[in-house]
Amino acid sequence: MRSVPTATVSRLVTYLRILTDLEAADVKRTSSDVLAEEAQVSAFQVRKDLAYFGRFGTRGAGYSVPTLRRELRRILGLTRPWNVAIMGMGRLGQALADYPNFDQYDFILKAAFDNDPDKVGRHIGGVDVFDVAELDARAAEAAIDIAFLTVPAQAAQEAADRLVAAGIHGILNFAPTVITVPPGAFVESVDFVAGLKRLAYYLQGAPGQARVGS
Ligand code: NAD
Repeated sequence: MRSVPTATVSRLVTYLRILTDLEAADVKRTSSDVLAEEAQVSAFQVRKDLAYFGRFGTRGAGYSVPTLRRELRRILGLTRPWNVAIMGMGRLGQALADYPNFDQYDFILKAAFDNDPDKVGRHIGGVDVFDVAELDARAAEAAIDIAFLTVPAQAAQEAADRLVAAGIHGILNFAPTVITVPPGAFVESVDFVAGLKRLAYYLQGAPGQARVGS
């Protein structure tokens, strides 16, 4: 298979959400035009993204919603549950632990880790908080696949290295710093603050932007 661009993977996640909504509305068939409009891309882009993985539609008849949804779940690796841990049980880590709906998407929160003795041993948001010294053993025991990385930026790379060494090869990084991992491990970064900064840029009336309220 040709190497799949990251942007294509992001769009597949969007197409899957749209197909899930269509299926919930009992819609049986759809088209690249409908998917394109909902995903705010071109129909050509939809067809090109899907073509990386095979042929799913019939010319003129479009796509079967349940079949395409099932195929996208398979392609995205969403036909099995993934075990998740939280590294860093401060404000953000605890807020994530309190979020009740990850398991609705088959992401199962199994454990949390921190190096603060005041947090270790507590049960927060439904998960036990373990000392990072126990990471290797606990990660293996709970078969952790993915970690939320919610430690301060200056501790993030070292914490990521520990996660990878413990066999956790997926990291959702919330720390505002670049994390590097060896081949076979993957990092996705989430940055609300970067989103706020982009909004500030648009709201101030940047060159080429209409100022809000003006
Ligand atoms: P916090 O200080 O409340 O919590 C950090 C936790 O990490 C603490 O419990 C601390 O004991 C623990 N910790 C520190 N070093 C550790 C290590 N080496 N191993 C294990 N645990 C360790 O911080 P917070 O407000 O929860 O923020 C956490 C991170 O998330 C920060 O990097 C912050 O900048 C970032 N953040 C990101 C976003 C975003 O949009 N991505 C938003 C808010 C905060």
